[in-house]
Amino acid sequence: MSQLIQRTELKTFYYTPVHCPFCGVRVMGADPDDETRITACAHTLFIAHDTAFEYRSARLDDNLALKGLSDEDVEAKWLANARGIDGFTDAVTVTDAIKVAAYAPAPSAYGSYYGFAPVE
Ligand SMILES: [Zn+2]
Repeated sequence: MSQLIQRTELKTFYYTPVHCPFCGVRVMGADPDDETRITACAHTLFIAHDTAFEYRSARLDDNLALKGLSDEDVEAKWLANARGIDGFTDAVTVTDAIKVAAYAPAPSAYGSYYGFAPVE
């Protein structure tokens, strides 16, 4: 069986901007005029938070068998996971994939999830 995605958690400095570990692109908040804008590089597998995927790469769709599914069907899949989108993306097995999970403290307990993997 392939290795599961390797996790890193940010709990105290959860607001630290996340950059791709392979090329250094800042994937979220790079645009000062629109901090919610996403900049996915070639290594980005996914960008998500607790209520939705912001970005899904073709590699993610291949790896989690999401290809050809509607957004509603994809949502049904991760909603079925006991830990939601966080647990769902823990099942990624793309080679040498890395996930950063940033958790805002309680009471908000809001998570952001970033997945990366090297390209051949
Ligand atoms: Zn990159």
